[in-house]
Amino acid sequence: MSGRRHSIAVAGAGIGGLTAALLLSRAGFAVSLIEKRTRVEEEGAGLQLSPNASRILIGAGLGHVLSRRAIAPECVRIRRGKDGRDLATIPLGQTIKKRHGAPYLVIHRAELASLLLDAVRASPGVRLLYGREARGVAEHDGGITVSLHGERGSESALEASALVAAEGIWSAHAPADSLPRFSGFCAWRALVPAASAPELVGSGEVGLWLGPRAHLVHYPLKNAGVVNVVAVIEDRRPRAGWSRAGEKGVIAGAFAGWAEVPRALIASAPSWKCWSLFDRKPARRWGNGLVTPLGDAAHPILPFLAQGAALAIEDAAVLAANLAPMAKPDEIIVGGLNDAKTQRSEAQGSADIGRALRRYEGERAARTIRAQREARRNMLAYHATFPLSLVRDLVLARASGEQLLARFDWLYGWSADQSSVQH
Ligand SMILES: Cc1cc2nc3c(=O)[nH]c(=O)nc-3n(C[C@H](O)[C@H](O)[C@H](O)COP(=O)(O)OP(=O)(O)OC[C@H]3O[C@@H](n4cnc5c(N)ncnc54)[C@H](O)[C@@H]3O)c2cc1C
Repeated sequence: MSGRRHSIAVAGAGIGGLTAALLLSRAGFAVSLIEKRTRVEEEGAGLQLSPNASRILIGAGLGHVLSRRAIAPECVRIRRGKDGRDLATIPLGQTIKKRHGAPYLVIHRAELASLLLDAVRASPGVRLLYGREARGVAEHDGGITVSLHGERGSESALEASALVAAEGIWSAHAPADSLPRFSGFCAWRALVPAASAPELVGSGEVGLWLGPRAHLVHYPLKNAGVVNVVAVIEDRRPRAGWSRAGEKGVIAGAFAGWAEVPRALIASAPSWKCWSLFDRKPARRWGNGLVTPLGDAAHPILPFLAQGAALAIEDAAVLAANLAPMAKPDEIIVGGLNDAKTQRSEAQGSADIGRALRRYEGERAARTIRAQREARRNMLAYHATFPLSLVRDLVLARASGEQLLARFDWLYGWSADQSSVQH
């Protein structure tokens, strides 16, 4: 390995893995991005990208392409599900951009994945290994060997200096003491044609409707001619995995007593996909040796704070910053003339990388745990039943938009430079 660039294997090309591959290659590493699917197909749905995440992508030179593909909504408008009564409006648009120096965006997931993939492809030293599953990792002096399982049953192996497991919530490299937990809720997603909801397309808002044991979010997506709808309802039968088809009658029935707007949106949806919502018990210790998890693999979070992808993007920035000094082994070992010396240097390089991985985990744990807990708290507030819902509605109605926005300063105001001090 002496004299060559260190290489990092990244398993999983979701939003977290793609961002990690991009930032690690920009930091000077050779990167192998391993994805078990044959191409990166982010599910047809939207994503809110708060300033803590958009700031990183803009810093990576993606601001221009983001502004062509994303919308910066003016506000989050919170309404009561049963009668549509306005409860609160949280300003976004220029207000949040001025406050945090970066925009709050909404974007189609496929657009975000494809703009990241384009940037990864344009970045030097990245090898894309699609249709390959990382099936095991062995550590040895100087690095790791990742076993790969190909689509048609082929087996191969990959040498690298470290493995970043960005494999999502069901990752085999998730923290050992953090078990998956079913929330009791299922998210239903649909894309409603803009023609069926023209007033919502032009409104410039993220709509949030709250009701007992359910809520609904909608926002328009740029270039797609659709309104993204996420409806969360109770579900007794959890199912692992990504998505499955949902029956229209079930979701229409769950929102039957709600106001006209959410009911009309639900009726206009051509089809639904469902996700049983899981998270894991928050963990302080994540990885081991030369393996570290990132994104949902490290700290899966319920979607009640719209932060899972944002935190994965943050992870990637902090990981790349910690590993950057190790991108190139010392020139002193170039050539490997003295084998013993080279081996010692490789072992030293591995020890440095291992320490950098632990530093990254240490810098991320408190913040991601806080976000995981906050998301669970939001679940209770969003779905409160009477009389708690009355208290929630009063608190929301009495606070100004600025006050409500200020509650998220710890979250949206984060930047990678301050990661070790600001949680
Ligand atoms: C309803 C809903 C709404 C949400 N809304 C938002 C939002 O508005 N804003 C936000 O920030 N977050 C949101 N999230 C959360 C966000 O979607 C996730 O947190 C985020 O996608 C996690 O990204 P990831 O890259 O860590 O993992 P994933 O997206 O799960 O990607 C993992 C990738 O790894 C691959 N993989 C797995 N195992 C292997 C292996 N062994 N070898 C190779 N490849 C492998 C998978 O195929 C996949 O491509 C929402 C989530 C839900 C369910």
